[in-house]
Amino acid sequence: MNIAYNQSLLGYNTFHIDEMASEVSIIEDEQQLFECLQYINKNQKPLFIIGGGSNILLTHRVEGLTIVNKIKGIEVIQETDEFVDIKSMSGENWHACVRWCVEKNYGGLENLSLIPGTVGAAPIQNIGAYGVELQEVCLSVEAIHIHTLQKRIFQHHECAFGYRDSVFKQQEKGNYFILSVTMRLQKNPTFNIAYGDIQKILALDFNNILSIKNISDAIIKIRKSKLPNPDEIGNAGSFFKNPVIANAQAESLKNQYPNMPMYAFATETKIPAAWLIEQCGWKGYRNGNYGVHTQQALVLVNYANAHGHDIVDLSTSIITSVQQRFNIQLEREVNIW
Ligand code: FAD
Ligand code: NAP
Repeated sequence: MNIAYNQSLLGYNTFHIDEMASEVSIIEDEQQLFECLQYINKNQKPLFIIGGGSNILLTHRVEGLTIVNKIKGIEVIQETDEFVDIKSMSGENWHACVRWCVEKNYGGLENLSLIPGTVGAAPIQNIGAYGVELQEVCLSVEAIHIHTLQKRIFQHHECAFGYRDSVFKQQEKGNYFILSVTMRLQKNPTFNIAYGDIQKILALDFNNILSIKNISDAIIKIRKSKLPNPDEIGNAGSFFKNPVIANAQAESLKNQYPNMPMYAFATETKIPAAWLIEQCGWKGYRNGNYGVHTQQALVLVNYANAHGHDIVDLSTSIITSVQQRFNIQLEREVNIW
């Protein structure tokens, strides 16, 4: 087992926050994972797990053991004329896994192209984009209890998937290391192109030819044009979830703010948080090293050397102003450490 002591986590989080960790172990296989888990249990140390670090905000030195997950491997475990079941180890890069499927013409993940991070973190917040969520393809999640070291397969119905939510963010938060994810992909998929600019880009760049690869490429193009690249500006994507409110409140808000965008969401109404934040005047706000992205109000950014607690304070100010103006409570999506 390799441990690096007093190591900066700067290179391990897309917000580019320079906090130290007392002990860091980069793991590449299950054996190394077991050694780390035995070590923290024997020495009663807290455990922190980092995949791609694209959904965390560090606010202080991390004591205990930090594991950086690099356990890789993708395999086909079952195949018929209609579908293919694949099992991906959790340390695989998510987008690499998507493109592995796209190249083989396996459908289901194309709308989730270019989401940063690892496969193992995907079920935690049931990643979603452009009208598709992980839960639509996820068959099961293999996990190891960090204290008992017992393996457990969470079948789809046990994952309690919800909007940017799952059992791993609720009842089982912090209890398990996710080892692999099994997904069912389709050989003749039904495409989901209703969202945003997908159809426009398919028409402009792909002659309206519908294919798994064209949809993936279109989404990559849209995302590159709209979202800040964490390699250039530190960020963790959407800092807040889109709030889901009761229809009666939505109706009353629509009377007051006729331009407020709204989407039906099961029996309730979803409001884009970016619009609410922009209306409160935060889009493009900058305070020295940190602020709100100029093009995308849902994304808080670290221009250089910002402290995590400054960004948390900014998010609190945003939550307060949205609450005061619209009586809507924003919830943070990013995990604050
Ligand atoms: P990390 O940030 O490393 O970890 C996130 C949390 O999961 C932490 O609490 C960590 O401890 C825990 N964790 C990580 N791996 C494991 C494991 N193997 N076992 C147990 N716990 C673990 N999200 C979306 O849903 N849709 C999007 O479209 C989207 N776009 C984004 C765009 C940008 C530019 C960025 C920066 C982020 C975006 N995100 C999006 C958020 C983020 O990419 C996802 O939430 C992603 O799944 C996080 O993966 P990660 O490996 O980086 O997780
Ligand atoms: P967008 O297209 O500008 O739309 C703004 C918001 O409105 C989105 O967040 C989306 O909600 C909602 N929306 C738009 N069209 C919709 C439709 N037809 N039906 C239902 N809801 C609709 O969004 P964007 O910022 O460019 O992001 C595009 C996609 O990538 C979104 O799905 C977004 O969630 C995802 N994304 C997520 C993150 C993250 O960190 N979580 C970061 C970047 C992008 P939903 O968010 O519920 O889809």
